[in-house]
Amino acid sequence: MADTIIIGAGHNALVTAFYLAKAGRKPLVLERRPLVGGCATSEEFAPGYQCATLAHTLGPLRPSIVRDMQLERRGVKFEHPDPRLVSVGLDGRALAFSTDPGRTADAIRPFSAKDAARYAEFCGTLARLGAFLSDLLEMTPPSIDAPSAGELWELLKTGRKFRALGRKESFALLRWGPMAVADLVAEWFETDLLQASVAARAIHGTAMGPWSAGTGAILLLAAATDPAPGGSSVTAVGGPGAVTRAMADAARAAGADIRTGAEVKRILVKDGAVRGVALADGTEIAATTVVSGADPRRTFLGLVDPVELEPDFTTRITNYRCPGTVAKLNFGLGRLPAFRGVTGDPAASLRGRVQVGPGIDYLERAFDASKYGEMSPSPYLDVAFPSVTDPSMAPSGHHVMSVHMQYAPFSLRAGSWSEQKDALADLVLRTLEAQAPGVTALVEHRQVITPDDLEHVYGLTGGHIHHGELALDQLFTMRPTLGWADYRTPLAGLYLCGSGTHPGNGLTGGSGQNAAREILKGPRSR
Ligand SMILES: Cc1cc2nc3c(=O)[nH]c(=O)nc-3n(C[C@H](O)[C@H](O)[C@H](O)COP(=O)(O)OP(=O)(O)OC[C@H]3O[C@@H](n4cnc5c(N)ncnc54)[C@H](O)[C@@H]3O)c2cc1C
Repeated sequence: MADTIIIGAGHNALVTAFYLAKAGRKPLVLERRPLVGGCATSEEFAPGYQCATLAHTLGPLRPSIVRDMQLERRGVKFEHPDPRLVSVGLDGRALAFSTDPGRTADAIRPFSAKDAARYAEFCGTLARLGAFLSDLLEMTPPSIDAPSAGELWELLKTGRKFRALGRKESFALLRWGPMAVADLVAEWFETDLLQASVAARAIHGTAMGPWSAGTGAILLLAAATDPAPGGSSVTAVGGPGAVTRAMADAARAAGADIRTGAEVKRILVKDGAVRGVALADGTEIAATTVVSGADPRRTFLGLVDPVELEPDFTTRITNYRCPGTVAKLNFGLGRLPAFRGVTGDPAASLRGRVQVGPGIDYLERAFDASKYGEMSPSPYLDVAFPSVTDPSMAPSGHHVMSVHMQYAPFSLRAGSWSEQKDALADLVLRTLEAQAPGVTALVEHRQVITPDDLEHVYGLTGGHIHHGELALDQLFTMRPTLGWADYRTPLAGLYLCGSGTHPGNGLTGGSGQNAAREILKGPRSR
């Protein structure tokens, strides 16, 4: 018997386990894979080559989580690279985003003096709107039907902060959310490469293109965690796996037990309340609280017997959209490649990310193909070199290149992903070759992770990297579904803590921390 079982050892579940243990519970974390971390791992994919297997940057993590879990004391060395992003253009020029907005404006000036002059104002606006929204990310989404006194108080405080934004910015906030990010960036800047570098965060991991309505809201959601245009590309020495290993240490030190290689097959339910879990090996473990860090569809449609849920709830979860569009490729290289337009020592200029997505139309066309079940002929790539910050990730003098590729639709119109692996790797290298001539010849090893692998090996339904689409109809009070956004579920004692809950925007730990707070409060009268 365990007092609390947590399904999965993704970073959110580890955060939840830590806070529950700190409050005196004895959580038992059960992870199906042989290691902790979920999408945030660093693994060896070829002898001597280790890469950030899936995610290569952090959200970044909420500062309170870093502090409470004492991650730095546990050896995590966070990296804030400068430049944080280098965006390569089709004309052989590149645009470097520095941590210093003044220096970034200097880099923008050769493209457009007008854009350079507006950059600081854009950074300021995004930072102020992001700061307002960051409070909402820490909130438990309120009940729409019957908000409690505490929820009304929080909403009142939010209303006051909204008024304090002033007329111009409160109007911007209301307008930007439903907008297409392509329109939003065009109101600020005329340089296509700059527009695309800012807009890419609004489509990262989604089944949307920059002309999709509502991508403005995704840009705002990203800014609420990290307001730097293009993202600050925070990572850790050793990749995200170093962070989740330290999180597991913190959870264990607080009193949690973590077992790997332990797949939950069923959540056991009796009379509308959880009674424990059954593992794939047949073992049953009793518990009165079960917290799932797996995505909502996997949890309710895969682990719970359908007869235990109301058909209306099951329909809503069936309609929760998880259309994956991402493939991940990790390469072992003989040395660092040289990108066109990127000057200076590559070991200094490639500490952050490199974006191959040189224009709004380029990004939209990349998306177009995925609508019809095809991979983009000219994909959007987000590239990182984890071995630059941690040389021990590759043999001496060699490097690893981590490539996030979009769009690779989970459902292919023709053929299967297992047949397309080589074609996918060739396509990615061809695309990179145009920007970094000679890169293909540097490749010594490669690991190709398709959307199908994301579902079957890494447990992401539909291969969706955020456990469900980040879209206006699946955010805040509607994540995962209206009426159940407070981490509780229709089954007494069953909670959710993964990215399919609010705020769910990448590696921030936000969902796990919010969920722990609600689990400790216990059931809510409805
Ligand atoms: C390719 C890729 C690139 C990404 N890039 C970035 C990035 O650069 N920056 C960023 O911030 N975010 C990125 N993300 C998103 C981010 O990594 C995820 O949103 C986040 O890690 C999700 O964390 P989680 O704890 O909610 O869930 P997960 O990390 O998905 O963890 C869930 C865990 O539950 C386990 N599990 C599932 N079912 C069971 C079961 N039945 N029994 C036991 N265990 C089970 C899984 O094995 C998994 O370990 C990326 C994701 C992917 C896939």
